Amino acid sequence: MHTDDDLVPILEDAHASRTVSRAPVWRILIVDDDEEVHASTRYALGGVHAAGRALEMAHAHSAAEARALLRADRDFAVILLDVVMETDSAGLDMVEFIRNDMRMSEVRIILRTGQPGYAPELDVFNDYDINDYRTKAELTRIRLITAITSALRSYQQIRTIAEHKRGLELIIGASSDLMERKANGSFAEAVLNQLATVLQRPVDGIVCTREEVATRDDDPAALHIIGASGRYGGATSSNLSGICDPAAIELIRASLKTRGHCFNDTCAAIHLKSGTHEGLVLIDTAGPLPEAERGLLEVFAANIAASFGNVRLFERLNHIAYHDSLTGLPNRTSFICRLNDVVTRRTNVTVALVDLRHFSDLNNGLGQETGNALLTAVAYRMQRRLGAESIVARMSADVFGLIGPADLIRPERILELFAAPFEVADNWIPVGVTIGLYRSTGDEPKGLTLLRRANIALNHARHGSSERHAYFAREMEDSARARLQLVDNLRLAFRARELQVWFQPQVMLSTRQVTGVEALLRWPDGHGGFVSPPGEFIPLAEYSGLILELGEWVIGEACAAFMRMRQHAPRLEHIAVNVSMPQFRHPGFARTVAALMQRHGVANGQLEIEVTESLAMDEPRLVIGCMRALRQAGASIAIDDFGTGYSSLAHLRELPIDCLKIDRAFVTEIDSAQGGVFAETMITFARKLGIAVVAEGVETATQDDFLRSHGCEAGQGYLYARPMPLPELVEWLATRQP
Ligand code: C2E
Ligand code: MG
Ligand code: MG
Repeated sequence: MHTDDDLVPILEDAHASRTVSRAPVWRILIVDDDEEVHASTRYALGGVHAAGRALEMAHAHSAAEARALLRADRDFAVILLDVVMETDSAGLDMVEFIRNDMRMSEVRIILRTGQPGYAPELDVFNDYDINDYRTKAELTRIRLITAITSALRSYQQIRTIAEHKRGLELIIGASSDLMERKANGSFAEAVLNQLATVLQRPVDGIVCTREEVATRDDDPAALHIIGASGRYGGATSSNLSGICDPAAIELIRASLKTRGHCFNDTCAAIHLKSGTHEGLVLIDTAGPLPEAERGLLEVFAANIAASFGNVRLFERLNHIAYHDSLTGLPNRTSFICRLNDVVTRRTNVTVALVDLRHFSDLNNGLGQETGNALLTAVAYRMQRRLGAESIVARMSADVFGLIGPADLIRPERILELFAAPFEVADNWIPVGVTIGLYRSTGDEPKGLTLLRRANIALNHARHGSSERHAYFAREMEDSARARLQLVDNLRLAFRARELQVWFQPQVMLSTRQVTGVEALLRWPDGHGGFVSPPGEFIPLAEYSGLILELGEWVIGEACAAFMRMRQHAPRLEHIAVNVSMPQFRHPGFARTVAALMQRHGVANGQLEIEVTESLAMDEPRLVIGCMRALRQAGASIAIDDFGTGYSSLAHLRELPIDCLKIDRAFVTEIDSAQGGVFAETMITFARKLGIAVVAEGVETATQDDFLRSHGCEAGQGYLYARPMPLPELVEWLATRQP
């Protein structure tokens, strides 16, 4: 801490240099009821320079006049005050007026009296801070000048102390203000504002930062402008050399090199350092900076360095908290913040969620490194093409978020971005996307609402049409709510053992002999009907995760039922069970299947796992691995709903499958004008691969005929039998036994 004494010399110089540039004067007020005293004082002090300045005198001839004068103008350094005027105590009353009423504590007071007898008590001197007491006779010219000079010195010291105290208070105030600043821009603005306050004038300045001090680089180009004021205002983020003159650039260079403050005749470079970060404040000084101001700037810099470190740390934490470390994009938290902002400020905004299809498969197949490189490439392309006008964020592993003007954030524009493949580690990887969009109406209460709606649209696009993109519509939200309710009910029904597994026979077309059955889940409502069909509640069970437990139960039920059926139909070859993606993804799935088969005594090849074609194609690598494991466990594999999944035949050939199930749509077609071309092709294809083929949903004799004559071995459909509960099936099997 500075002591008052330390500060004095700085101040004296400061005033000295000001004298040169602004030619200030010391103002002296003479209060005396004797005109002669005024005249002699004017004479004695005329042309005198004391403490570096000329003197300027003002005159009052009575205490009353002096009061009026001071009320209008209080800018005096010294008051020469007569003790006895209107009354014997007029002078002392005046002192009280100056100190107490006018609260002028800095002005120096010299009391003068005609007779020595009027000297005030000692404590009056102290209480009223009176500098000197002299009889008029005593005050020769020289003595008067000496007394004035000493009073002026004292006044200067008092001013210095006051000014520094104010400066330090400002700096301390500034530090706590700056401590609160949590972002670079706001910090820079506050620094410049506080500097203007400390220096008591508007500041033309720039605040810059530099990331790593590790490099010994003193190139000003490494600095990043985070704020500017005065004539530099608006310079934010442009290049320093474009806005500073060469001398200023040199100064900056010197400051970076020495890691210290540097001054020249026109500017000051204040260096800030905290940890590995460096900052620099450049201000115009319009002339060499007086020592006192340099001192203040140095104290200021030392104080704000801590806040600067704070801001840097905060920005780092902030960056970590609000950014995705892989791609550098804003993360989900940040996305929601921006959405909240958007909700309150903008209209005509669209929020989109872009889901990369088959990403986890790619990640598993090509390795995480390639997966990361792909995500980075996608992030880069999205940011580069849309980032200028919209916000691009990474929401989760393979979902990106977009916020932007409705005419920019459209499915066509987004799909365009993914038209070309991405170059990753010397590979060109095509990426397909599913997009959910929500066009803001401006009446959303929270940003989260927008995100939720975009998410509902995304889910709709994922499960819905082949379009692969969807705008949110109110009905989706209503149905989303209803579906959530349904999930709850499904869980309760499952716990209450209200779900059942029914069975539909599969027959040999040539002999009508039952060779297999398919297990199909049912949710009876207790009144002879069903709460919801499997096509509706199975996707919900998948979505909610319930499918894992539920699916395992179905396999167990199916195995147990199969063993019972075999007692009535010994030639029954297999039982087929449908499984969903989450079951497939579950690492222990093949083991679970093996354990269930073993527990119920189901032999190798007797349990057939049905996987829909779209599932098999969704994440081929993951699926192939799982299929192999299942076969290892003794199960066989059928591709369900074949023909609906857009799979390439090449791809299909890679899968270890035992059976193709022709989707009902192609079987139905046989009866139509189109005929059974597709069904025929599929049969041929299956035969070529040497795998079994089952036609699904056979309802008419025509279909049955066609299929049989084209070489399809087996069929399943209402023509032969509907799905039934186990007791009914057992009865049905018994009636058909020869
Ligand atoms: P899927 O595996 O393709 O099952 C065949 C569907 O066609 C069944 O519908 C069956 O009742 C119906 N079907 C059979 N023959 C005919 C016919 O001649 N005409 C008509 N119009 N339909 C016929 P369901 O039982 O409603 O099941 C729908 C889908 O739900 C199944 O399609 C399957 O993908 C899924 N599913 C059913 N049970 C389960 C299960 O336990 N687990 C899983 N993951 N999915 C299941
Ligand atoms: Mg099936
Ligand atoms: Mg099917």
